[in-house]
Amino acid sequence: MQNGNTEKIWELLNTVPDPEIPVISVVELGVIRNVEYVNKTYLISITPTYSGCPAVKTFQDDIKICLSKNGIDNFDIKLVYFPAWTTDWMSDSTKKKLLKYGISPPSKKIICPQCKSTSTSLVSEFGSTACKSFHKCNECLEPFEHFKCI
Ligand SMILES: [Zn+2]
Repeated sequence: MQNGNTEKIWELLNTVPDPEIPVISVVELGVIRNVEYVNKTYLISITPTYSGCPAVKTFQDDIKICLSKNGIDNFDIKLVYFPAWTTDWMSDSTKKKLLKYGISPPSKKIICPQCKSTSTSLVSEFGSTACKSFHKCNECLEPFEHFKCI
């Protein structure tokens, strides 16, 4: 597919899961800024989530593998750092998916993914990754992770 169909590229990118949260795609996460077709090359602009997030390399590799598998080799990935990624770029449906997956989505109010209680305590600023913090629900006592708001 060398005809400049950027829609198709978006479709393919939407099948690439976030390396840390497999239920959401890199498109849903909001890291894909733009897809352009310039000089017979698809130019994919990516804004990394948290600076220094080790997933950035994985994102790029996963995208390359996905596109190559679909016979697309005329693409370039460009990293764009400004404006910085923010959790506001995550759609409400993506946040709902996170909650269903057991991660409290980025929000001012932290919700327990198990019982939806807002009575929670911070256990640690860092969960399994630097992007998440670790909490415990005061109602059902379940521990859970919260995707930090930035
Ligand atoms: Zn709970």
